[in-house]
Amino acid sequence: MKIKNIIIVVSIMIIIYSLLITESRNPLIVDDLHPQYSCDELTEKSDVLYITPLLNNDSILNYPQWCAEMKSLNKTFGLHGIIHQYHELLEPIEEEDLKEVMTIFEDCFGYKPRLFRPPYNKISKENKVLVERLGMTVYSKTYLLHPYCHCQPYSWMKILNIIIGC
Ligand SMILES: [Zn+2]
Repeated sequence: MKIKNIIIVVSIMIIIYSLLITESRNPLIVDDLHPQYSCDELTEKSDVLYITPLLNNDSILNYPQWCAEMKSLNKTFGLHGIIHQYHELLEPIEEEDLKEVMTIFEDCFGYKPRLFRPPYNKISKENKVLVERLGMTVYSKTYLLHPYCHCQPYSWMKILNIIIGC
């Protein structure tokens, strides 16, 4: 009886883990991409990459070679926040600031961003309306619903990357 219970629990865990892995590849998302960070292997195998155009006030336009390389990969790119501050999309934001990073994105990739992922998956109703009005689709599914990878994981995020084999 005890062994039977162990088998049931292990089976359920295997099923949950398989679901997590399957969902994470549907598509494989990588967050926090910026030329300051290097995650070439992960970039290569990912499907959708979310860019932080102004990380630490360092514009991706300072790296034209990087922009050219990214474009040549033929991946899907999206916008990942403005300067990627903690919960920045929960606070009221300036439309001009959002437009500025959209322009930076466009100048790098050659097209306007159509996908938007708020840092930490947090966005207020007002900001969501604004982002959508500017022509982007908000994708803010949490890790448990759609596990994703971090280009430059730190502390516990490293574990999240390992769990789904980033
Ligand atoms: Zn992020």
